[in-house]
Amino acid sequence: MWPKGKVAALILTFDFDAESAEYRKCPDKPVKLSKGIYGAKKGLPRILDLLDKHQLKATFFVCGWVAEKYPEITKEIMKRGHEVAAHGYLHENLSELSYQEEEKVFHKMITAIESICKTKPKGFRAPYWEFSKNTLNFLGKYEFLYDSSLMDDDVPYVIELEGNKKIVELPVEWVLDDWQLFEVHRKTPAQVYETWISEIDAAYEEGTLTVLTMHPQCIGRPSRIRLLDDLIVYAKRYKKLWIAKAIDVAKWVLSNNSKA
Ligand SMILES: [Zn+2]
Repeated sequence: MWPKGKVAALILTFDFDAESAEYRKCPDKPVKLSKGIYGAKKGLPRILDLLDKHQLKATFFVCGWVAEKYPEITKEIMKRGHEVAAHGYLHENLSELSYQEEEKVFHKMITAIESICKTKPKGFRAPYWEFSKNTLNFLGKYEFLYDSSLMDDDVPYVIELEGNKKIVELPVEWVLDDWQLFEVHRKTPAQVYETWISEIDAAYEEGTLTVLTMHPQCIGRPSRIRLLDDLIVYAKRYKKLWIAKAIDVAKWVLSNNSKA
């Protein structure tokens, strides 16, 4: 399942939404927008510094509109060796869109990210983890290598698509999402730390994949970035835990799958 010498995997992912979702729904509410802006202004720089400190590389799912609005920090993500993957254009809920509307979103999202990052995104995560019935086939059509939105497994797997195409799924879960724990359930950093390390412990024993999903405006607050700092220290003690970017795990799974 994993590269030689590794028994389980951990992917640190950050959904760089900034204020896109609020801007789409209520562009005239400055306070609502400001919470997302905090992610770009304060949260993201803190995350980048923390990852540098631990010499770890991560995956950032970025909305096309966000890449256009914050080109410098988006380029900085790339410059520091992380992966920029796609996360809608303006944080659309794909399950609410017609085929034509969704295709337009895919087109705008890819064009925006490519124009800022000078490379096409290979990974995708659906905003709100919501798909339409067409989403998977759009991922095939636009040549994505992987998706990270579904919840039906705890190891990566390959999805066969129309036209003989395949993509890797890197499954997620709400328990590993900072937004759910902090903003919905109002957990403390200590409670979230406890929850996440028990997931990592169990995944290490079972040989599965842990995909942490975090948001700069949420995990990037001072008390919460410390929890992430502590969690990274804890995870690094597991010498056989593969801490990798999503793209690297996806490529590994695809190459293994073609050998099978
Ligand atoms: Zn999002």
